[in-house]
Amino acid sequence: MLPRQIDRTRPLSLYIHVPFCRSKCDYCAFYSVPYSRAEDMVDRYMSILLSEIKALTDDWQQPFASIFIGGGNPGMLGYSRILEILKAASVNGRAEECTIELNPENVTEEIETFSGYLTRISVGIQSMDEDVLRALGRNASADDNERALSILSSSRYDFNADIMTAVPGFTAETTLRDIERTVSYDPDHISLYCLTFEEGTPLVSRARPIGEEKEREALIASWRLLSKLGYTHYEVSNFARSGKECIHNKVYWNLGQYIGFGPGAESSIGYSTVLSMRENETLEEYIRKPELTCYPLSGSEAEEEVLLTSLRTIYGIGKEEYRARFGKDFDETYSSRIALLAPESYINSTDRFSLTESGFLTLDRIILEMAMAL
Ligand code: SF4
Repeated sequence: MLPRQIDRTRPLSLYIHVPFCRSKCDYCAFYSVPYSRAEDMVDRYMSILLSEIKALTDDWQQPFASIFIGGGNPGMLGYSRILEILKAASVNGRAEECTIELNPENVTEEIETFSGYLTRISVGIQSMDEDVLRALGRNASADDNERALSILSSSRYDFNADIMTAVPGFTAETTLRDIERTVSYDPDHISLYCLTFEEGTPLVSRARPIGEEKEREALIASWRLLSKLGYTHYEVSNFARSGKECIHNKVYWNLGQYIGFGPGAESSIGYSTVLSMRENETLEEYIRKPELTCYPLSGSEAEEEVLLTSLRTIYGIGKEEYRARFGKDFDETYSSRIALLAPESYINSTDRFSLTESGFLTLDRIILEMAMAL
């Protein structure tokens, strides 16, 4: 089942894509289908997904390092189907971290059913302000968000809350109020994203981005507040209490090994040779016959992938690991490009290269600059 490029000496994580939502949010360009239009495909989706998980667990024979059930909105499957997935994925033992994304309206006291399998819940709050939620075309109301956070704060699970900033018509103060209100429920982890305008979404036809300068102001003010509230800014969009960083996301950002199941899910395996795989794009194709398209990454593509992912984190790129993986010296490869960067945007020590918060603000430009060395 597993391609020969898998490195059996390294951990493996599992991602499951659940492509159903109640309805489309106005800004969202992720692949998902409204549940009411796909109801007749759910049983088939489940049976294919469970058989993929079974084939993998039969072959891998060890617990996964981490499991992440994302969407879409996995809550649309209902708790009994979610439990089936969790049991199937944990057949070789419990993962150190097992996360599910839920929309606030799907968080109920019954989440305790998942204990023994699940360790973490990520909830898409986006805002605690009714007007912002309406502007984004979210299903959940501010009351739904309060109720979900209240259940999660007294549950046994770690939890993350997603917050969105840079929403047109609202100021940085709105985001600061959202952060304070959300943090009053004491989440272990917060993801803070700027609203992006994706072609073809309803949002694009009725609003315009707030502009780079205002976006920057909102980010700096939010980062400052989150730090004051005790969260470490460990990745460009992610903040955690001490020891509560998301293990699964760190696998992506380190170009670790993970297998993804479900429409459009990506996988990446190997170490020096990296094989990137993608399942069929749509639910219809997936339930007809799940198929993996494989792309072996060339050396420079894998190096570029490391720039794109590792530079997002405060840990950056370990120079020894870079040499072990690519057989190249990091300083020799990049020193001429690093010399062109603003000195306050990075930390370049003997064993590591990483970006500062100032660097995070110009992350895309820095990655482009450094990729010119490849
Ligand atoms: S719930 Fe999430 S995945 Fe679904 S439409 Fe809204 S933002 Fe997109």
